[in-house]
Amino acid sequence: MLTSLFSANAILLGILLTVGILSLVFARLEPGTRAAGDWGTSILMMGLGYAMLQTDGRVPSLFSVTGEIIMLAGIAVMHGAIRKFRLEENPIWSPDTWGFVAACSVLLLWYTFAHPSARARIIVFSLGLALLLVWAALRSITLPGNMNRAPRRLFTSVIWGVAALFVARAIGTIAAGPHEDEHFRHDTLQPFAATIGVLLLTTLSIALMWMEVSLLNARLARLVSQDVLTGILNHRALMESCERELSRAEHFHESLSIAMLDIDNFRRVNDDHGHAVGDAVLRHVADLIGADVRKYDTCGRLGGEEFLVIMPQTSIAHASDVMERVRQSMEKTPYMHKQTPLAVTVSIGISGLTGNITGLDALMGAAERALYRAKRGGRNRIETSRSEAGEDADPRVAPSVVYDNPPKETP
Ligand code: GH3
Ligand code: MG
Ligand code: MG
Repeated sequence: MLTSLFSANAILLGILLTVGILSLVFARLEPGTRAAGDWGTSILMMGLGYAMLQTDGRVPSLFSVTGEIIMLAGIAVMHGAIRKFRLEENPIWSPDTWGFVAACSVLLLWYTFAHPSARARIIVFSLGLALLLVWAALRSITLPGNMNRAPRRLFTSVIWGVAALFVARAIGTIAAGPHEDEHFRHDTLQPFAATIGVLLLTTLSIALMWMEVSLLNARLARLVSQDVLTGILNHRALMESCERELSRAEHFHESLSIAMLDIDNFRRVNDDHGHAVGDAVLRHVADLIGADVRKYDTCGRLGGEEFLVIMPQTSIAHASDVMERVRQSMEKTPYMHKQTPLAVTVSIGISGLTGNITGLDALMGAAERALYRAKRGGRNRIETSRSEAGEDADPRVAPSVVYDNPPKETP
């Protein structure tokens, strides 16, 4: 009996040890992971605590009660790992969780030494374990959304499974009433709960590592398409998006317009206030463009102080209206530098699919030429590819709307 009990527990402990060490190795070798290290520590603590608990009744009680406390503390570390995933402040040392563990520990020590009662100890331990796990499951409801849904769902459902198991175990232990031999290892629910618990914890650990990989992938995908300075799409992602929208528009015979925006006299901002302020102005402009375009438009930074907006199913005339809104809001919203307003204006060149303009290069070229015309015409204004000869023939293009705003003299 003892041999079979030992070997079953040895297998469970072996699994916990392997899973804990794997999580630690994963955290060490995979830079950028959020919580795998703490998760591994928590699994190892639970394994160690569980091993110490098995000695109950055979060696001094201090050993087994320490095992119980280590298991509870292991779950507190698990809470920390979940909080790290949620990017919470001070994730590991949250006073509420550790306060709860400390209160349980005091009760466990009390019922071991001051007022020995094996039954009271089992009840405190089972309830403490169950409540901490329900609490951990509650914390897992709002895991970060910017990752693959599958690992997040797996983690949340399995942690609720673990919590339910230990709640059932606690209720079972209390409902079973006093037993003649109250030592923990003789609890009839124990072998079942321990086996299922270890299997669920293993699944949970796999789900956690999967979440880590998923978050890393999401971060990588964002980095590949994001402009580091402004947070909007970068040149590469913009061109991809433009190609996609263009082939869609050509296939469905729909209109498509693009707008190229260039900040006016931007060199002066850098020269007068320094590069850092220049960068802040670029972010300011990116925010304003993002706020003013419609939600089905795509905007990004082409490079330097040039931006591009892709407007699907939009005629040049309509695109001019949208861009006029952008131009005006730029004019009305100066960048505040140390309480001093810095006027920022943009010149905008718009082009659209027409009989003459097909393909990405032609569309970009036409927008660029329109932009230069806007610069030459005095800046802070919009020009469209329609003013290029021969393009009025296209029926998709509405009559020319060119907003002309003579530049104010900059001091
Ligand atoms: P124009 O009205 O003709 O467009 O004049 P401009 O001064 O804006 O144009 P120009 O192309 O001569 O200068 C663009 C400047 O943008 C040059 C460069 O120093 C600055 N610039 C490009 N990229 C960045 C950046 O990432 N950060 C900052 N701060 N400045 C940049
Ligand atoms: Mg430029
Ligand atoms: Mg410029």
